[in-house]
Formats: sequence, C-alpha cells, structure tokens
Amino acid sequence: MQRFNFLDEKFADIQMLRYELKGWEQLSIKQKLYIYYLSKATLWGRDITTDQFGKYNLAIRKLLEHVYPLLKYADENQAHQILVYLKRVWFSNGIYHHYGCEKFVPAFSRKYFEQLVSKADPITFNVQDYQRYTGRLLEVMFNPDLLPMRVNKKPGDDLVLTSACNYYDGVTQQEAVDYYNKKRQDSESEQQPSWGLNTKLVKQGGMVTELPYTAGGLYGAWIQHIIYWLSKAEEVAENEQQKLIIKLLINYYQSGDLKLFDEYSIEWLKENAGSVDFINGFIEVYGDPLGIKGSWEGLVEFVDKEASKRTEKICSNAQWFEDHSPIDECFKKSEVTGVSARVINAAMLGGDEYPSSAIGINLPNADWIRKLYGSKSITIGNLTEAYNEASKGNGFYEEYTIDGDTLKLIMAYADMCDDLHTDLHECLGHGSGKLAPNVNPNALQAYGNTIEEARADLFALYYIADPKLIELGLLPSTEAFKASYYTYVMNGALTQCVRLTPGSNLEEAHMQNRALISNWALDMAKAANASAPAVEITERNGKHYVQVNDYHQLRDIFASELKQIQRIKSTGDYKSARNLVEKYGVHVDAALHAEVRQRYEHLNISPYKGFINPKMTPVFDANGDITDIKVDYTEGYEQQMLRYSREYSL
Ligand code: ZN
Repeated sequence: MQRFNFLDEKFADIQMLRYELKGWEQLSIKQKLYIYYLSKATLWGRDITTDQFGKYNLAIRKLLEHVYPLLKYADENQAHQILVYLKRVWFSNGIYHHYGCEKFVPAFSRKYFEQLVSKADPITFNVQDYQRYTGRLLEVMFNPDLLPMRVNKKPGDDLVLTSACNYYDGVTQQEAVDYYNKKRQDSESEQQPSWGLNTKLVKQGGMVTELPYTAGGLYGAWIQHIIYWLSKAEEVAENEQQKLIIKLLINYYQSGDLKLFDEYSIEWLKENAGSVDFINGFIEVYGDPLGIKGSWEGLVEFVDKEASKRTEKICSNAQWFEDHSPIDECFKKSEVTGVSARVINAAMLGGDEYPSSAIGINLPNADWIRKLYGSKSITIGNLTEAYNEASKGNGFYEEYTIDGDTLKLIMAYADMCDDLHTDLHECLGHGSGKLAPNVNPNALQAYGNTIEEARADLFALYYIADPKLIELGLLPSTEAFKASYYTYVMNGALTQCVRLTPGSNLEEAHMQNRALISNWALDMAKAANASAPAVEITERNGKHYVQVNDYHQLRDIFASELKQIQRIKSTGDYKSARNLVEKYGVHVDAALHAEVRQRYEHLNISPYKGFINPKMTPVFDANGDITDIKVDYTEGYEQQMLRYSREYSL
C-alpha cells in the first residue's frame, strides 16, 4: 500500500501539508453526501473571512489573481516574488501575517507590478473599474506605514482605530466599548447574547450603529450560498437533532438574531449521536483587538471512533479533575456539566480555519452557556498526525534539546503527550472553573484571550504529570510528562520566537500565553532557589538551552500559576492580567532571539504549517443520482486556491 504523502510545497515561512480522511470508505453514502454539502457551505465563507481581515484584502487578492496569468511571461525574479506574495495572501486570507498580524512587505517592484496590472486582460478584469481604486490598493500594499497591523494590542493606542481588521469603521475604541457596555446594561437577562459577534460597528450620520452579517445584510450574497448548501445538508442529516441545528443556524443567518445563535449553540451541544459534525459561522474573536467580533470559520468533521476512547476517559472523569485542581475552592465548579470530547477527522476546512487550522476546538464561547450546558470539545486527529509526520527527522529537537537523555524522553513520549495536552486543554481546561458573581466576562479586555489560553494550558500542564493519567491508562510511564514539560518551556521561552521577525513583539494570544507561562516559571524557580532552580536557561558552547533540574518542583510552579491565573479570570482582575502579560508574554530578548533564529535557519524548517483540502467529487449514475463522493488528494495549493476563487467567489 502506498504511504500517504503528508508534505507538500514550501514558500515564505510556510510548509503546506495534506491530511487524510481516515475511515472515509467506511462511511455510508448518506453520510458522505452530508459531509459533501456541509463542505460546500464551508467553502462559501472564504471571502467573508478575507474581507473581515482587512477592507482591501479581497480587492488586492483579485488584483493579484488577475495578474497571475501574466506571470509566466514576466521577469522571472519579479514573477516569483509576486507569486510568493499571492500565496501568502491566500494563506492569510489577506495581506497580514496569519499569526503575527503584521503586513507583508512585497519583495517585488511597485513599478513592475503596475505595468503588469495595466497589461491585464480587460475581459476578466475591468481595468477602468479598478483604476479608481488601484492607486489606493497599491498604496496599501507598498506603504509600510499605512495600516501596518491587522490586530494592534499595544497599550495606550486606540486599538480600534489602529487595527486594520474590518470590524469597525469610523468609531473609536471608547465608542465601541461604550456601545457594548450599554447593550449589556440595557439587557435584563442573565443570559446575555454575545453582543456584536456578528456585526460591523460603523458610524452613520454621526451615530454609532451596527451592520449585521445576514442573508439580507452585510455579506448577504455569500451567506445565501451558505444557507443553500446547509439546506441541502439538512435533507441528508443523520438524525432529527442535526436537522434542528441546521434549521436554527439558517434562521440565525437570515435574521442575525443572537438569541437564535445561542439557541443553536445549545442544541448543537446536545448532538453527540451522529458521526458527522460541523462548525459554520462567526465564532472566534481573536481577530478583534477588543475580543467582540467573530471571524467567519467553517469545519466539517467526522468522528475517529478508536481515538475517541481516549477523550471519553478524560471526560467521564471531569468532576474528579475539577475537584482536585489546585485553584481556590470558591472558583471551582461544584458540578461539571456536559463535558463531551471526541477525536475527529477534519474533512473540510474553511474561513479562519483554512489553510491554517486549530488542532483542538472547544465551543461554544458564551460563558453562560458553558456554565449551564457545558461545552463540546474536539481534537482533530488527522491534522495532528500530519504535523507529527512533518516534524519527524527535521533535526529540530536535536538542535534545541540540552542532552541525549532529554532527547530520548522527547522521542519516546512527546507525540502522545501532545495529544493528551490538547485533550486536557480543550476537554477540561477551558471548561473548568467559574467566574465570581457579577463579574463581567469581558473584564480582562485585550488580555482576556491570553489569560484564558494560559488557564487552559496550565490545567493541562498540571494534570499531565498526575498519576491519575497512568491509572486511567492514558500514559504508560511516570516519566512521560517530563517530555511535555521540557518541550513546553523550550517552546515558550526559546523556540517559538523563531516565528517572529527581529525586533517584533509577541502579539498572538497563544504565543503570548506560552511565553507568559514559561518565563514566569523561570522567574519563580529562580526566586525559590537561586542556586538550584527547578528550571533555568543555561548556556553551553555559546548556545542556550532549557535545563530542568526538578520536574516535580516545576509541577508545583505550574500549580501556583494556575491558581493565580484562575483568580485573575474569576475576579476580572484587569490590572494583574495586564501586568503579567506585559511582563512575561510580550517582549523577546533580542540577543536570545537572534541566536535561536540563527540555529533555526540552519535547519531549514518552515515555522508555520497549513493544509491543502481534499477535493470531493460526486459520482453520478445514469439517472443523475449521486452514488458516491470521491476524495482526491492530488490538487496543488495554487490550483486549489484559484479554483476556490472561481467557484466560491462573487
Ligand atoms: Zn484554547
């Protein structure tokens, strides 16, 4: 049997991967059809995300795609650089780095590009129409000072005015905050909708007002296509509950009513009987500096039955984990409700999940729903598998691990610990703990996402070293957690910054939280025992390494961090959140950064990975009925992106 080919092309700082739909052939034709229709609904959201990530993104992408056919006749070097830029624009859903949020700098000449644009085919591209805008588009592409960051979180700046994301127009940060505070106060309900999640906030005639993303509103043309394919999916759903969920989602897309979205989320939580599930909508708020607006994302998935036994074990013990957590008793949930978690195979990625995807997801995000109904967690097994395969034998751990014994631990246990860490983070971490009465869930503002991710990671770090996991048969040895501890601090304090350009700060919530946890642990270890700290950074032959001297003490440090982070979250302690994130989670030591990057460059590894989707094609019989859905993995990255721009754009 031929081995699945996980690796695809590389460009800029990106390695493209493929994922395999394991168990596809065992699905029934009805299930395959259900996945196929949901996949169409997923792919139709691509342009929405691109537009949300910057108001010029779609136009710039179209300009580049329009020039694309000319590249084969163009100057080789210029053409190559334009193509790389276009690949990055596709990858990031716009002109900003998908992770660091900074604007790409084109490595081709503006003049040359302008010449190409003027030669463009007027049939596929109405030059006149664009002429009025092209000047502005070129200015946005080439002027580094114009709209430089998609999400700016620098304290002191007006985060709304200085962020290039397209969720606000003409309003200041204060106006946006006031607007949503008022919404919250005006609503009598304990069960507040996620105000502003599915709207753009604009100023019209001097008034601050919302433009909802609905079938008849903003992005309506795309949303109507999404609704069409959702209705097709409803006809072949596996059970009545799935049909109800789809109906609610469609009603919500039509009305924009956030109460319907909450209702949908609650019904979605209850559906665990089917093998197929999906996410489709305005969900995560990382792309908004205020953490209010949801970026559009889509995911279609089917359950991996074998691997799900692992998460079932964790979930069925959720109350035990909550009760034994090192946080203050008053912030513990007396009753952990409805934790469910499964290992799934991704079948189609879309919007904010494509091509760069999360490997674990925990939803819904609304705190009151989580409190009353729990949450649903997934870990995406076939994406993790692709990541693990891609990192084998690339020399990374050999370079950054301090000694042979540690390397042996990592080789033996890192993959299984990574899977477990994700399970604990998603299934239990995000769902654990509770807010103190009357605390505004948005009290931590721009620091909220980072603190929440730190909380979930610390929960996972604390428990991965617990004998309970061995008792449950999830880890084979009391040594295993050490691989997880070592690689976590190594990543958080050293190696994750290979992804950053020199001189830049950590901006993304997950990167910030990993640095926060690691650097804070290093500080605490030093304060506790300066001569023999539990964990430290040491230098050998001019290279810096993490050295763990006492893994059990390190666990105590993580426990102490978890307790403090939970208190900050539960009490909405903005000041402490800001102090911790600013002290440990933002800045990178310049000399260390340069050294780590230099070592990395020798390894020739791409710091970011993303996925090419499989291509699904229906097979028809003589009557025109679909008898099967064929899955094909041979489509290239460029081919796929150009096809999506043709088939799922307007
Ligand atoms: Zn998380």
